[in-house]
Amino acid sequence: MHIYHAEGVIHTPVQDCFEIHENAYVCVEEDGTVNGIYDCLPQSMLSIPVTDLGSRILIPAFTDGHIHSAQLPNAGLGYNMPFSQWLTDLTYPSERRYEVEEIYTAVNSQLIMDFWKNGIIHGTVMSSTDYGATENLFEQYIDSGMCAFIGKMNSDLPTYGVAAESTAVSIRDTERLVLKYANKNPNVNYAVSPEFVPTCSDELMEFLGHIAQTYKLPVITHAAEGAEDVEMVKKRFPGLQTYGNVLKHFELFGGHPSAAIHYNLATSQELRDMAEMGIVYIQCPNSGMDMGTEKLMPLRKALNCGVPCALGSDIAGGHTCNMFRIMISAMQLSRIISLYEPYEPLTLAEVFYLATKGGGRLFGKTGSFEAGYFFDALVLDDRKICPFKAENLMNRFEKIIYAADPSCITMRFCKGKEVPAPKNLK
Ligand SMILES: [Zn+2]
Repeated sequence: MHIYHAEGVIHTPVQDCFEIHENAYVCVEEDGTVNGIYDCLPQSMLSIPVTDLGSRILIPAFTDGHIHSAQLPNAGLGYNMPFSQWLTDLTYPSERRYEVEEIYTAVNSQLIMDFWKNGIIHGTVMSSTDYGATENLFEQYIDSGMCAFIGKMNSDLPTYGVAAESTAVSIRDTERLVLKYANKNPNVNYAVSPEFVPTCSDELMEFLGHIAQTYKLPVITHAAEGAEDVEMVKKRFPGLQTYGNVLKHFELFGGHPSAAIHYNLATSQELRDMAEMGIVYIQCPNSGMDMGTEKLMPLRKALNCGVPCALGSDIAGGHTCNMFRIMISAMQLSRIISLYEPYEPLTLAEVFYLATKGGGRLFGKTGSFEAGYFFDALVLDDRKICPFKAENLMNRFEKIIYAADPSCITMRFCKGKEVPAPKNLK
C-alpha cells in the first residue's frame, strides 16, 4: 500500500459536481488501484509510511480523446486559411513528411513529451495511413509508461482528390499492426481508426468491422462533421442515410468502448443509439473554433440525451493539447452557444469530468479516485502561477484551471507508478 497526503484531493465521481477533500489521504493498493480517500487514516494503516505532498493538490490525470500524430508540427498554423487550402498546403504535406523515418520518430517523440507535460496519461491517437510511423508510435509509447489507443488511419477513397492508400495496402498494413499490437500490452492497445465514411470503401469498412469484432477493439472515427460529408453519406447509402446507420451496418459502431469525433450533425436517432450503445462522443472545442468551418453541436445536447462525452484536442484541427485550455474552451463555447440556442452552459465540474472520467471511460477505470479505479493522477503546485491567496480549495483549483499553465503539474502517476519525464524532455 502507498499513501499520499495532500492539502487538496479533487475529483468528479459524478458528472456535475466536484468532490473536494481538504488535508486528505489517498491510499493506493500494490496493483495501482485506489483503496480510498480518507480524512483520517484508519488504525490498520497507521504504520504505513506516508508520502506528504504538502500544500499541493491531487487530481485524476487527463485523457485527450482525439489527436492526429502526423499533424503535430502544424499545431497553431493556417487557421485563417480556407479549409481546402489548409488541407492541401498543410495537412496533406505534413502527412507525407510523416512517412520519413527520421521525421516520424521525432514527431512521435514530441507527441509523447507534450502529453507527459500536459498530464495526458491516456490518449487516443489517430496516426497517418503509414505503417512505419504507426509502428514507431507504438514502440515509443510502450516505453513511455503512459496509456494510449493508437490506430493507423484508414482512408482508401479519392473523395478529396487522391486516395491516401489503396484498399489492399490499407487492409494488409492494418492486419499486420493488429496482429503485432492488439491486446498485447496492458497500457497501449490498437484502436480501429477509419478516417470517416466518405474516404473509406465498403470493402475496407467491412474488413475494419470484422477485425474490430474479432479482436474486440475500439473503433474511433470522425462522423457527421458538416453538411457536405453528411450529404455524401446520404447519397452513397440511400438505404441507410446516416453515419450511425452506416457504422452500425459495418459493425463499426458499438460492441467495445468506441468513440465518434465531432458529430456536429448527429440526428436524434443517432444520439439515442450512442447513449444506448455507450459510444463516447468526443468534442474538440478548440478544433471547432480554430477551423471555424462547421456549426458545432452543443455538448449539452449530447449530455441531455445521455450520451457519454469526452474532450479532445484534434491537433492540428486544434492548436493545443493543453487540457486546461481545452476545458476552458469547452466552457466558453457552451456559454456563447447558450446565448442563442436553448442549451444550458457547461459547468466547471462538467468539463473537468469530461477531461478526466469522461474520456477515461474508453480505457476502463480511470479518471476518478473512487475505490477500484487506477491511481492515474497529477500533482499540482500552484504557488508560482497563483500569486493571490484563494479563499478556499475550490477557488484555488478554479484559478489553476484558468491559469492553464501545465508547468504547475509537478508529478504524474499511471496505475500507481510515477511516470518519469521522457528522455527527450527539453
Ligand atoms: Zn480529427
